[in-house]
Amino acid sequence: MTSTDRTHNPDAETWVDSARAHREFPIQNLPLGVYSIAGEEPRIGCAIGDEIVDLRGLAQDGRLPPDVAPLLAAAELNPLFAAPAAQRRALRHALFDLLTDPERQPEVQMHLYPAGGCRMHVPARVGNFTDFFAGIHHATNGGRLVNPNSPLPANYKFLPIAYHSRSSSIRVSGHPVRRPRGQRKPPDSTAPVFGPSQRLDYELELGVWIAGENDLGSAVSVDDAFGRVAGFCLVNDWSARDLQAWEFQPLGPFLSKSFHTTISPWVVTAEAMIPFLMPHDARAADDPELLPYLVTTTGGSGDALSIQLEVYLTTERMRQQGRPPYKLSAGPASDMYWTVAQMIAHHTVNGCNLMPGDLLGSGTISSAHPGGAGCLLEISLNGKQPVELPSGELRSYLEDSDEIRLTATAYAEGFRSIGLGDCVAIVAGCVSA
Ligand code: MN
Repeated sequence: MTSTDRTHNPDAETWVDSARAHREFPIQNLPLGVYSIAGEEPRIGCAIGDEIVDLRGLAQDGRLPPDVAPLLAAAELNPLFAAPAAQRRALRHALFDLLTDPERQPEVQMHLYPAGGCRMHVPARVGNFTDFFAGIHHATNGGRLVNPNSPLPANYKFLPIAYHSRSSSIRVSGHPVRRPRGQRKPPDSTAPVFGPSQRLDYELELGVWIAGENDLGSAVSVDDAFGRVAGFCLVNDWSARDLQAWEFQPLGPFLSKSFHTTISPWVVTAEAMIPFLMPHDARAADDPELLPYLVTTTGGSGDALSIQLEVYLTTERMRQQGRPPYKLSAGPASDMYWTVAQMIAHHTVNGCNLMPGDLLGSGTISSAHPGGAGCLLEISLNGKQPVELPSGELRSYLEDSDEIRLTATAYAEGFRSIGLGDCVAIVAGCVSA
């Protein structure tokens, strides 16, 4: 599962011109998604350069493995995620061969569509969406605002904290987000007030798409956990900090998170990510010993991901002035305290069944380094230190017409870098009554 093969060869090239120098979708990536062209039903595709190859069309023409083709008939990736990993690997190899062999171009060319003319959709039916809290620097920075002497919860280094979030309000990149309304309690008041959130924030997160299913009542070992990953995406877990501060005790966030979540449309598969797995060293020598179910038999605590994450903000005034997006932060995903394998092992240790198409969010990923904070709560110190933008504007939290763009690049020495694709949304005014 975790060894590279010919599809990861950095020298491999495709006959698709736009993919050769592509920053995100070269031949080594081959991410899966659901797209539509005007007037037609959504279907499954694969990004290659600036184009999308129609997998349903290739399957109907008999160009893909016969046991994989029936999994591509639906307008969602759940059947492929439910299949054994070997079938997803076989699909990757078949696509790689079709797109690298110039002699196969005639049979594939008719199934290529310019991505710019396609609309993307949420790639799978999300049964359950669980959001973790695996970014220790986010947990520390956020906790310090409330409890400066002891910012981390007592359980933080013993278990990957998570809560069950909302799947129905997940939208693909590009769908505008409405500012939520709700209760917030001003610090000088004993009773809450009601109205539009005044502290709308984004959260930079990595998303994990789940493959396969463990029976209810059976756990997934930390050694087997990475085998339950179908792929990765970017997640913006929009958060209303004022609503959150008032509602979150004692059962965790509710309306402050459930109003909207933006995900990037492409599933960068677990197979594509193999070159970018790296040793996980986020735990310090004096951290408490882990319970055995969170420790891999190989001695470490699982694999981290070599992914560089960035966040950009564009305001209405910046657009009018023709300014480029402003980089709010940059940092590595390897700064997460918990690995994806540990999150999955913990999620199922009580016998909870994870299903194909379930989505896990990592929690806000902040870096240990300056300029690496993954949300405005941390960047602005909850409004005490607003960001000054090149347009002269100040931002503590998001204003209407602000656009947030998350990007991610996986990189490793000796391999071709790949991207996760954009996760973008604009704040489009308040929810209607
Ligand atoms: Mn979150």
